Formats: sequence, C-alpha cells, structure tokens
Amino acid sequence: MHNAAFRELGLDWVYVACDVAPDAAGAAFAGARALGFVGLSVTIPHKAAALAAVDEVSDTARDIGAVNTVTPLGDGRLRGDNTDAPGFLASLADEGFQPAGRVCAVVGAGGAARAVVHALAGAGAAEIVVVNRTTARAEEVAALAGRAGRIGVAADVAGADLVVNATPLGLPGSDALPFDPSLVGHGHLVVDLVANPAVTPLMRAAAVRGARVAGGVGMLVHQGALAFELWTGRPAPVGVMRAAAVQALG
Ligand code: NAP
Repeated sequence: MHNAAFRELGLDWVYVACDVAPDAAGAAFAGARALGFVGLSVTIPHKAAALAAVDEVSDTARDIGAVNTVTPLGDGRLRGDNTDAPGFLASLADEGFQPAGRVCAVVGAGGAARAVVHALAGAGAAEIVVVNRTTARAEEVAALAGRAGRIGVAADVAGADLVVNATPLGLPGSDALPFDPSLVGHGHLVVDLVANPAVTPLMRAAAVRGARVAGGVGMLVHQGALAFELWTGRPAPVGVMRAAAVQALG
C-alpha cells in the first residue's frame, strides 16, 4: 500500500516490515533514528510501548494510550501519533455515516476499540455502548467517551445505528460471530474491523438481514494514508493505496 503510494508520487522511498521483539520498541526506534528513517508504523504488540519510547506525543495518541505512527521531527526527536482513530472516521465518511447524534455499539475493548470509541466520541456520537466479554476492560474503554460512554450487553446492539466489531472474531480460522446477527437489520450500519478476509462471516450474516455492511479495509487504508501525509507532507493517493491493499489482501 505504502510502496504503491511512493511509486505514484515518484518518491524513491521504500516501506519494509521489521520483526521487533515485544520488549524492544525503544531499541528499534533508536536504530531507526540512527539509520535516518523518515517514518515508522507501529503495530501489535508495540503500540502502547511506543507511547513511552517517543519524545513527543499527540493528544489523540495520549488519550487512546497507543501510538501507531512515528515521525522524526528533524532535530533527533521522534513524534508519536495515532492515525487509527481519524482513519476509522474517514472510513465511516466513505460509507456516508456521520456519527454526530447517533447511537453506536462497539463490541470488543482492545486497542482497536479504544481508537474507535475515542473517534466516535470526538465526532459527537450521542451514545457509545461498549460490549465486551471482560467487563472491566469495557468500563475502561467506555470511559474514553466521557458522558457519552457506557458499558452494555449484546442485546444493546439492536438499538444502535452503528455497530462495530472490534474483536478478532472473523479472522481466518474463526467462524464464531461476535454477536447474534439477528439483532441487526435495515437501518444498521455494521462495520467489521477485520480486514482479511474482505467479507467476514459477520458481514455476510448481517447483510442477509438487511443491514449495510463494511469491512476493515477502509480503516486500514485511511490510517495508512494519514501516516503517509505525516511523513511526506503531501496528500496521499488514497485510491492507489486502496487498490494495492485490496490486491494484497486477495
Ligand atoms: P486486542 O487488543 O487483542 O483486543 C481484542 C478484543 O476482542 C478484546 O476486547 C477481547 O476481549 C475480544 N475478544 C478476543 N477474542 C474473543 C472471543 N473469542 N470472544 C469474545 N471476545 C473476544 O485486539 P485489537 O488490536 O483491538 O484488534 C481487534 C480486531 O480489530 C482484530 O481483528 C484486528 O485485526 C482488527 N483491527 C483492524 C484495524 C483496521 O485498520 N482495519 C486496525 C486495528 C485492529 P477481552 O477483553 O475479554 O479479552
């Protein structure tokens, strides 16, 4: 996705994936700084550790407790941002969904749910219900939405305009559904953050019942596009990035 964008803009840059041991985010950043990297994406399991390993942090990243994008500031310091939250909102805009004043249910309370709940609260959602098998984590995540947030149970999905699956249920090897799809139908937008496969069992089951559905590719592409813009200072070729992501995910 990023390499396709670099080619599109004629940048002689390359994006590579590096395996980093769970306790080595700080060392990896020091190495990247010494090597003159122009940007870093951070993923599982380093997003929380990255918060402490950079020199400056955006308000969004601090609130969410996770950094997914690192940008050198040019004076040896590194800045951490979180583009998952605005990337999620951009993916909702693609679906024509505006969260302001709407009721939203988020199933799951991990890192992705934190970004989604923070984004929905910032966009003015009227109510954000967090449903999770571990109640204590749901409480923590619901608190990110302030007065708009509360914990809920699976049945709350029925009363939401937007339902987001932020659990890994739907990834290859897991046919289990995160909630009973008979709870949704016409009038619901169901977003499954699982990006691969492009059409998950939840999306299939919700569509059969008349719900509008969207997968995780939109958030994946937009968080990457926003990172691209932080690193290059240029508008990201979002269409090129989406085509490359869709092709790579098969
Ligand atoms: P995470 O931090 O590990 O959180 C996973 C959440 O799912 C936890 O709340 C966990 O509940 C719940 N969960 C896990 N297995 C479950 C099960 N069998 N039954 C019910 N609940 C279960 O993971 P994450 O980083 O938030 O990622 C969640 C999903 O979002 C993944 O599929 C990931 O691929 C996707 N994602 C997509 C994007 C994108 O750009 N599209 C970005 C980030 C993540 P407990 O709290 O009870 O353990």
